[in-house]
Amino acid sequence: MTPPIIRALSELRDDVYAWKSAGESVAVVPTMGALHQGHLSLVRAAKEGCDRVIVTIFINPKQFNNPEDYENYPRTEEEDARKLAAFEVDAVYVPDGAQMYPDGFATTVSVAGITDGLCGAHRPGHFDGVATIVTKLFTQTMADRAYFGEKDYQQLQVVTRLAKDLDLPIEVVGCPTIREEDGLAMSSRNLHLSDRSRTYAPEFNAAMEEVAEGLRKGQAFDALKAAAIARIERAGFTEVEYLDLRAADTLEVLETPSRPARLLAAAWLAGVRLIDNIAVN
Ligand code: AMP
Repeated sequence: MTPPIIRALSELRDDVYAWKSAGESVAVVPTMGALHQGHLSLVRAAKEGCDRVIVTIFINPKQFNNPEDYENYPRTEEEDARKLAAFEVDAVYVPDGAQMYPDGFATTVSVAGITDGLCGAHRPGHFDGVATIVTKLFTQTMADRAYFGEKDYQQLQVVTRLAKDLDLPIEVVGCPTIREEDGLAMSSRNLHLSDRSRTYAPEFNAAMEEVAEGLRKGQAFDALKAAAIARIERAGFTEVEYLDLRAADTLEVLETPSRPARLLAAAWLAGVRLIDNIAVN
């Protein structure tokens, strides 16, 4: 059965109050729609972790630093609802812009430090948009647990930080990145890749895996990084925005994987910005 689509906060709250007064736990899975197996893996984890599951779909204008990217972002609501039907989620919350940002809206949630580098450095305002909307979704849904993908690793750390700092009564759960068979991380933006670009896209992850392998063998990061960037560019990518080795928890810059580390990268392929990250140890 297609899950109920809820557009008004008051209606969502009525459901959540009823569930909570019956002693049921509530999960939220925030998304921007164009659902793929990566999103659905979060829904699966949420179903396992909580009695009730709310999937939210909101393409948040405040987290797009590029208006064209916002305009072109895939919008597939009916298909999304069909995909969610198989999971028997309890609500699909699809608020409109006025519900999320009513006239006079003037508040921004901003997480310092952890947002400085990586995507934060290349997408001005992006994480303020993410932090603001996620805080709203947490308080609107009053969920006990929120499920996020490691695919957006910096985002996961930002959201974990803000929930902790603001004493939000919610547990942030990170879930592993789901990939295509050839290693490409699933992403709604992959829909924008031409057939030709799609054949080159897996080189991005393959080059990152090569760096991780070299690091595990004790090779120097700088040389591995230069070789990986050359490989990614040879595959037709126009720009590697960053390819960094960071501490897995604080995202501090590392020279060697001396503690649990993450390799994170962003690169452009034929006008599409891809991001990926992998654990190094
Ligand atoms: P988005 O719709 O791109 O905002 O993503 C919504 C949620 O799905 C975020 O928590 C993402 O990290 C997560 N997600 C997106 N792609 C994947 C993937 N390939 N594997 C796991 N989680 C993902």
